[in-house]
Amino acid sequence: MNTPRFAARLRRIKPSPSTAAADRASELRRQGRSIANLVIGEPDFDTPAHIRTAAAEAMNKGQTRYTLMAGTVELRQAIVAKLERENGLRYGMDEIMVTSGAKSAIHSALAITIESGDEVIIPAPYWVSYPDMVLACDGTPVTIACPEASGFKLTPRQLEAAITDRTRWLLLNSPSNPTGASYTVAEYQALAAVLERHPQVQVITDDIYEHIRYDGQRTPHLLNAAPQLRDRTLAINGVSKTYAMTGWRIGWVAGPRAYIQALDTLLSQSTGNCCSISQAAAAAALNGDQGFVTESVAIYKQRRDFMVQAINAIPGLSCRTPDGAFYLYVNCSALIGRTTPQGKKLKDDTDVVMYLLEGEGVAVIAGTAYGLSPFFRLSIATSLDNLEEGARRIARAVKALD
Ligand code: PLP
Repeated sequence: MNTPRFAARLRRIKPSPSTAAADRASELRRQGRSIANLVIGEPDFDTPAHIRTAAAEAMNKGQTRYTLMAGTVELRQAIVAKLERENGLRYGMDEIMVTSGAKSAIHSALAITIESGDEVIIPAPYWVSYPDMVLACDGTPVTIACPEASGFKLTPRQLEAAITDRTRWLLLNSPSNPTGASYTVAEYQALAAVLERHPQVQVITDDIYEHIRYDGQRTPHLLNAAPQLRDRTLAINGVSKTYAMTGWRIGWVAGPRAYIQALDTLLSQSTGNCCSISQAAAAAALNGDQGFVTESVAIYKQRRDFMVQAINAIPGLSCRTPDGAFYLYVNCSALIGRTTPQGKKLKDDTDVVMYLLEGEGVAVIAGTAYGLSPFFRLSIATSLDNLEEGARRIARAVKALD
């Protein structure tokens, strides 16, 4: 059989490292190993019952046909109302595009705007998919290391230094995967002051973790701090994390009409509309009782507090307390150069992660996947029992090092 010849844009990208880590953990489990899996990047709760009921009702009422490309009127109205109620942002119905998850929203936004050589600024640590999405659209990811000492956040000076004539986008994610860092209004204003000097730079805000935050406050949006950026900002969000709806695949873009029309054109010739049943479920999530959100965040907070304390009690490891999202980004620099009981010297965070997995059966993801080393990411979207077991295993593994 002939080997298929794939396009250069495919050859430039790699499969998601988090999927690869999850696959490796499942493989070891299949082989009979006991694994404390701290890899998973999705809520471990079921979608709330009233949302599932709304989906069943939509199906039974025959809402099983194509919908409008931009999304059903009902869902777009729910998104418009949500943006005003929760974020103080006003959008019209023709400024919303429903997509198959926030992931496809970000990819599509890049696909309609960037050409070969266009640059996209991505503060690191970043969500693993951003650089590959840019590469898949023939663009150039420009990653900027945002160290732990500055709270893993981009500074105005770094932003100014990174902008060139080819810069098309700045990608912001707050609270962030993998660090949980969240920008304040003042920090957004300082970044906006730089952007005002560079009108060619557009902004994508990935707001997917906005409700998973631990100080009881509302997550500020860039456009609250800098409304003057509205005509070059796409606010991207979805129901996956907030309502434990990762499998339903509903996200959206809120932005100026010209972008929405372009997205409509692209998506009408590729995916077509999103699943009609999922759209009905997402509308019920946004319009319905929000008790689940408060309850799940309280549970994540309990887990976060436990795990931050447990990690910081292990000599050689440390982590900041994340403002939001459900991950800890653990600094493992003190383990580099140490030797495992099998005689292997740990030379980077990939070695540390392999050692934790092979040695103690605890699965986490190396910081190299997120663009800032030496760290590893662990997820707290798992039971307290699993976190306790994971912490015990990590402590044992670290103690066994020479
Ligand atoms: N953005 C970030 C930062 C994420 O961590 C994820 C999922 O892990 C997504 C977007 C994807 O969201 P969706 O399920 O809506 O595609």
